Order: sequence, then structure tokens, then C-alpha cells
Amino acid sequence: MNNLRREIVRQLREARSVLVLTHYRPDGDAVGSQLALGLALQRTGKKVSLWNDDPVPAKFRFLPGSEQITTPSRQPRAFDVVVAVDSSTWSRLGTAAERIARRRCLINIDHHVSNERYGDLNWVEPNASATGQLVYRLIQTARWPIERDVATALFVALSTDTGSFSYANTTAESLRMAAKLVASGVDVGTVSRHVYESYPSARLHLLQRVLAELKLIHHRRIAYYWVTNEMLEESRAKREDIEGVIDYARSIDSVVVAILFEELPEPRRVRVSFRSKDRRVAVDAIAKQFGGGGHPEAAGARIEGAPATVERNVLAATRAALRAAGL
Ligand code: 5GP
Ligand code: MN
Repeated sequence: MNNLRREIVRQLREARSVLVLTHYRPDGDAVGSQLALGLALQRTGKKVSLWNDDPVPAKFRFLPGSEQITTPSRQPRAFDVVVAVDSSTWSRLGTAAERIARRRCLINIDHHVSNERYGDLNWVEPNASATGQLVYRLIQTARWPIERDVATALFVALSTDTGSFSYANTTAESLRMAAKLVASGVDVGTVSRHVYESYPSARLHLLQRVLAELKLIHHRRIAYYWVTNEMLEESRAKREDIEGVIDYARSIDSVVVAILFEELPEPRRVRVSFRSKDRRVAVDAIAKQFGGGGHPEAAGARIEGAPATVERNVLAATRAALRAAGL
């Protein structure tokens, strides 16, 4: 592992131009990891590009450097090294993947068990709480300074992927890392205000509509609801406001698996998010049955089909998973 990390550092040291990518619909770990690595590389004099098909969600735009994250260039461009962070598959990088004319080395850094190892160098550690934790170790290996802006981006990555240090993936190492980042100048109160307490009121209007149609089935162990296009239009909420909505279903005492169905703008396509509160039920295995993936306790998939059909199939698979676990 250490050799792999050293080889990654060597590739980055030798590069003049580096492209850092992450998955579309980026979350805190995606934006934080991309930005931390990008800023750290810039400080060592590299020419750095940061691409994403989707804009940085508003709650992360306070992060210094986030304005450098742009949509991929239309014309394919050449880079010495391309690094993908927090993306389990090549296709989740979106159109960026097609806009790379040439690259000497593709580095894949991720913490998803389901990672498809699409890089020339693949550093995948499912035990890491967040990809940001791996980026932090990489920066330490390279002995690049962890300045306040880098520390803040890494803190956001770690905080969001651990549910503010509350999920089962919170470890002694992630808490030690958080302590070191705070010592490097992270202003925790400011981060929390932006990330957890700066939602537009439209998100709460959306939440009202969504929660009104919450369903509890299978001895109240499965909770699910829909975010439809109509709900989004009526509440004037944006798609990025859907992030975290699933947590309300998850927070019910009897619930083992929470499911959020999101109608996508293109017809006959549904995005499904899963959360599990019980080690005996691994939701990435359910998501995988529908072409998705993720972690045992948080997973997702994009599924083709009419909404009612997708719902029926997903609920059937989830009931089966619970039954197999004796629940
Ligand atoms: P979320 O429900 O927050 O969108 O995603 C939860 C987890 O599942 C994340 O770790 C994410 O990477 C993974 N995930 C979500 N959607 C997909 C998908 O369509 N394909 C794969 N492979 N993983 C997904
Ligand atoms: Mn992550």
C-alpha cells in the first residue's frame, strides 16, 4: 500500500499538468477531495484543472477554490496525469472522461468496495471513512503543507461522509484526522453553518411534500418516499436540495432500510438511494442488482423503467434482503 502511495506521489511530482475529477452530482466528499488535492497540487506549482458536469452545490461554494471547478472543456485536452477521486466507476465521471485527449497516467483514489479499478494506479480502501481521508494521507506522504483551505476542504469531505462523525464508519483515525485538520485552522462553526444550516426555504417546502407521502412497510422496517418532478417544480427546490432528504426516513426508530426514489428529468429513469441501519443488511448488494453500487450502509442506483415498476422491483428486492437477514 505504501509503495502504491509513493508511486502515486511520484507520478504527481513528475507531472506539469494535472486534471482532478470526481463523480457527477458531487457530494461533500467528492467536492472536498477534489478541491483539497487540486489546491495542494497548485501550491506545488502544478497546472491544475478541476472538472465536473454538475455545478458545486451552493452549500459548498464557501470553500475557497470551489470557483475553479468548471464544466469539462468542449475540445478534448491533454494532461500529464488525471486523478479521479471518490468515483467507483469510470462512467460516473460523466462527460469529463471523453474530454481527455491524452494522459500519461490515470490515478483512481476511492473508498467504495464496488470500485471497478479503471485506473492505471488504483488506490481503493473500503475501510476509509471518506475519500478525503485517503487524499489527506497522500498529501502527508508527499509532505505537502496542509494549509487552512486544504484542511477545510478535507474536513468537509470527512464530516459529510460520516454524517457529522455519527455513522458507523466514524473511526479513531477519522476523529484523529479531524482533530489535526482543526489544528490546521478549520473553523468548525463556519463549516457547519454553511454545510448543514444554509438550506433555501424551498428545500423545506419540498420536504413537506415528500414527508407527507412517507410509507412504512414490512413491519415498519422499510421506509420509502418519492421526490417527483411535480414536487420539485411546486416547491421550486433544486435537485441538489434532495441530498440528505433520505435521512428523515432513516431516522425513524423501527426503520432498518430507508429508500428514496427520485424521478429524473429524462422519462423512464429513476434514481434510487438506499440507507441501512443494520449490519446484517448491506444495501450496496441491493443496489448492485439494479446496476448501482455504494457502501453497505449507503448505496444508490439509476434504474430504467416506469416509476411504478421500478418501485415494485426495488421494494421486492429490499424485502427479500431483510427476510434473508431474518428481519
Ligand atoms: P447517495 O444516496 O447519497 O446518492 O449515494 C450513496 C452512496 O451510493 C454513495 O457512496 C454513492 O457513491 C453510491 N451511489 C449512489 N448512486 C450510485 C450509482 O448510480 N452507482 C453507483 N455505483 N454508486 C452509487
Ligand atoms: Mn465518499
